[in-house]
Formats: sequence, C-alpha cells, structure tokens
Amino acid sequence: MALRFRVRPVRVLKFGGTSVGSIERIQDVAQIVKRRFEEDGPLCVVASAMSGETDRLVNLYKQLSSNTQTFEYDLLVASGEQASVSLLATALNAIGVKSRALLGFQAGFVTNKDRGRAKIQTMDTEQISQICAEGIVPVVAGFQGADDKGYITTLGRGGSDTSAVALAAALKAETCDIYTDVSGVYTADPRICANARRIEKMSFEEMMELASLGAKVLHPRSVEIAAKYNTIIRVLNTFEASKGNTMGTLVGPFEDLFESPVVTALTTDKNLALISIKDLHEKDNVLDRLFTKLSQESVIVDIIVHSAIRRSGKYNLSFSTPKDDIELISNCLKSLGLEASQMDTDLVKVSLVGTGMRSHSGVAARVFHVLAQNNVKIICTTTSEIKISCVVPAAQSEIALRSLHDEFITSEKNQ
Ligand code: ADP
Ligand code: ASP
Ligand code: MG
Repeated sequence: MALRFRVRPVRVLKFGGTSVGSIERIQDVAQIVKRRFEEDGPLCVVASAMSGETDRLVNLYKQLSSNTQTFEYDLLVASGEQASVSLLATALNAIGVKSRALLGFQAGFVTNKDRGRAKIQTMDTEQISQICAEGIVPVVAGFQGADDKGYITTLGRGGSDTSAVALAAALKAETCDIYTDVSGVYTADPRICANARRIEKMSFEEMMELASLGAKVLHPRSVEIAAKYNTIIRVLNTFEASKGNTMGTLVGPFEDLFESPVVTALTTDKNLALISIKDLHEKDNVLDRLFTKLSQESVIVDIIVHSAIRRSGKYNLSFSTPKDDIELISNCLKSLGLEASQMDTDLVKVSLVGTGMRSHSGVAARVFHVLAQNNVKIICTTTSEIKISCVVPAAQSEIALRSLHDEFITSEKNQ
C-alpha cells in the first residue's frame, strides 16, 4: 500500500461567475491557479457557475413553478456549478496541473434541509485533503452541498463565496482569496458610483454589515463564517490578477482605525419588499403569530415598524423582507387570516456603514439633510450603532447613493 502524506492546503481560491464566464476566461483562470500553485503550494479552488447560467436556470424553473424551496429547484440550479468546475479542472489538466472536479457533497459539504437557502452544518475535508496530498488541485462546485439523506441543496444566490470561506475555515487555510470582476471592496458599488474608492483593509464587522445590506461583492454568510473562524478574506480582481496585479481588499479581524472615517462604505439593496398591515388589534396577538410563522418558513425580516395608535388597542405594522419571498409571505398572511393594506416592491434601501459612527453624532441629521436637498423621499429609516438605512423609491436610489457618497466619502469634511 502506498503511503500518503496528508498535506494541508494552505489557500482557497474562489472564482466568481464572470471570471469563468467563457472558455477563454476559464483558461485565464487556469493560468492564475497554475501560478499560485507553483508559488504557494497546495491549494483548493472553488468556482461559481458561468455568468448568467444560474439566472438562466432559475428562469426556466420559474416558467413552471414559483416555489423555489423544492428538491427539483436545488438540483436544477446546482447544475451550473457542475459544468463550470468540470471545465476548469479540464483546463488545468490541459496545462499540466493535475486537477479533480468535485461536487459540493463530494467535497464534504453537509447542509440542513432548507431548500434553496440551505445552511452548511458540517464539513468533512477528508476527501479534499487526500486529493491535495496526491499533488492534485481540487476544483469544488460552490453554492451547493447535500443534506444528510444525500439530496443536493443550494446555499442561496451568491452562495459560492460561503462555500469558499467555509472550506478555508475547515481547512484552516491561511487566507481565502475571492477573485471577482472588481478590484476589491469599494466605498460604494463602482458600477453605480463612478468616484467610489477601493478600501484597502476593513473589519469583519463592517463587511458583514455591508454584505447583509446588499453589497453583492461578498455573500453575507461568507463574512459571518470568516469572522467566526478568523479566516482572512482577500477580494481580488481576476482580470487584473492575470496581468500580475494583486492589490485588493483585506477583510479581517482588524481593530478600528485610530481615526475611523464616519462612513466606510455605502450600499443599496434592491431586493426589498415593504409589507404594511393596518388597524391590527392588540388582543389578536398578530406580532407573535405572524413572525413565528415567517421564521418557520425561514423568511428573513429586516425592518419592522410597529406603531401603536394610543389608547385605541390598535396598531399599524410594516416590515421589510426580500422581494423574492413575496409569494411566500402572501401565503403566510392568508393562512393567518390577515390581509396586507400595501405590498410595495418598488423600493430600494440605501445604507451607510462605518464603525466611526459610534463616536460621531449628527450622522442621521446629515443624511436627512442631503436627501432633502436632493428631493429624495424617505419611506422609512432604521439605524444601529454602525449603520443607517433609508428606504427610498427605486427611481431615486441612485441619486440618493451618489449624493450621500459625495457627502460622506468624497467631500473634504470627511478627510
Ligand atoms: P462574482 O460573480 O465574482 O461572485 P458578484 O457579481 O457576485 O461577483 O459580485 C461582484 C459585484 O459586486 C461587482 O461587479 C459590483 O458591481 C458589486 N458590488 C456591489 N457593491 C460593491 C462594493 N461596495 N465594492 C465592490 N463591488 C460591489
Ligand atoms: N451561481 C450561483 C449564483 O449565481 C452562486 C454564486 O455565483 O455565488 O447565485
Ligand atoms: Mg458573487
């Protein structure tokens, strides 16, 4: 029997959809992996589906059903990653880097049964470690795993980042490198805000807030896992990396800077629905019954505005959820005999994030002033220690983002 020495892969590299969007791009990615393998030693690759592929599969599915919490939905949308990892491993083998493509479950991802939005429960890295020990580069399908019965599950849109960070944490990898189509995390989405700046270093806390408020660049759960296991994430640009540029953003356990800026970054979230119900009776216990039901259905509720009408025993309720869940919520309301007075999906949440807010007063006043000057209507607003969010009409979201970015990032007041 041949003796196998177990080698721990020291790095995990994840490539997003645009990075593997065509055969040429897959070949470029293979060159990056080859170089990193030669320079850094053992590594493990995670890939997303080719860009547009998951959307295509979701659209096919939705022509037949709107229920995305099924075995069949998961099986279908997971297939995008099956194709891309096979192609990437083939491209690596073709340039002399021994490689093996693996589905999520083969790489040890065991999840719960929440179809379409499963959570990773355990990770068995035995197989991956064996493959690495043989000098082979594992190329793992992101976004997917299997439940304890072996049924394929998916982690929610954008979930390949979470696969990569979970793998890096389980392997105790030095870093998890997220290769994407922008050069790091910016002060705002550079595709909306032309003068957004790349952030060199940021804390888990800020990135977690930013990701959960809609900055697509990292999947929120990937940052949660990174913070829990202290895994440093580097966000890098695939296209720049193929030209040798490795500047990006480090997300890690960094202390607040001595003089943190008030606002580190801004983001928008378009996947938002605001549901309002009027004239609820306190005695009907709707808050308890409704939110219990929503949590049983794994609906994520964000803003909750509960306003009692004094001495009437009545109150009005508004809450925001992801737009994708609107049908599920309608069913929940129906099953409890409730009716929404309004279900608004034409809204966007604009948020400002920064640990510097802890030590500065008057941030909300500046936000409201800038929005008022730009005639942006605020539907509702919410704050925490390190963020402030305003829900605004979708048509006004870009002007809101740009004007707030000018005020808090570009303007000299913030220097
Ligand atoms: P991938 O396919 O590589 O996972 P995504 O499309 O999921 O890439 O995420 C990258 C995109 O995130 C960028 O193209 C950019 O438009 C968007 N984005 C949103 N907010 C930010 C931000 N603050 N910094 C950088 N990119 C951002
Ligand atoms: N392919 C999946 C999606 O488009 C996962 C990912 O890209 O992270 O959502
Ligand atoms: Mg992504």
